[in-house]
Amino acid sequence: MTDRKAELAANLARVEERIAASCAAAGRAREDVTLVVVTKTYPASDVRILRELGVRHVAENRDQDAAPKAAACADLSLTWHFVGQLQTNKVRSVTSYADIVQSVDRPKLVTALSAAAVRGERELGCLIQVALDAESGERGERGGVAPDGVEELADAIAAAPGLRLGGLMTVAPLAGEYAGRQRAAFERLMEISSRLRSAHPAANMVSAGMSGDLEDAVAAGATHVRVGTAVLGVRPRLG
Ligand SMILES: *Cc1c(COP(=O)(O)O)cnc(C)c1O
Repeated sequence: MTDRKAELAANLARVEERIAASCAAAGRAREDVTLVVVTKTYPASDVRILRELGVRHVAENRDQDAAPKAAACADLSLTWHFVGQLQTNKVRSVTSYADIVQSVDRPKLVTALSAAAVRGERELGCLIQVALDAESGERGERGGVAPDGVEELADAIAAAPGLRLGGLMTVAPLAGEYAGRQRAAFERLMEISSRLRSAHPAANMVSAGMSGDLEDAVAAGATHVRVGTAVLGVRPRLG
């Protein structure tokens, strides 16, 4: 085993233990939580090693980095998630490799994703990114729609050709009433998810929790955790 492979294997094992312990503590089955490894800023060679180590879901947040990486890994059976703020001029590129876009937060993006999915003859999974600290009618600083905008976006995605409404995503807010209160933030997301599922029963994905707060997310009921640093190491630059 190369040094890098041994390092990633050890990190993955620690993350796996954390997820398993959180599931056990919450009385949830381990299979109910999917690990999505966020590979942003790390090379395609790491993605390849992760796949060898059993990882099936990877995530990226910038199209410029993700597009060449996904192309270099096209032979691997991986599900690619896009989790970054998305400009409409990048939608066509992202739709060519992403299986799921977790950061849908405005109607214009729904229209663009739908057109690109139809053109590419793909079905694209969409999660609505919720900004728990955004005021009514506004968007969060790091993307995301305010909670009261979820219903309208959900209906738009559900009606859009080429798109499949998967559920919700959030990043724990750094400011506002949920700052430093990850567990409360994720529980709020679960309430929004329950309401969403009453109108759209299949939209049952809840993506929440990162390296620092995955336990809170699993305890609250997240189905997907997005882990970067704890698997790959501290990123050389912000991303
Ligand atoms: C980078 C990123 C993550 C992973 O964060 P870590 O703290 O490195 O685990 C998760 N979600 C999103 C949206 C990200 O941009």
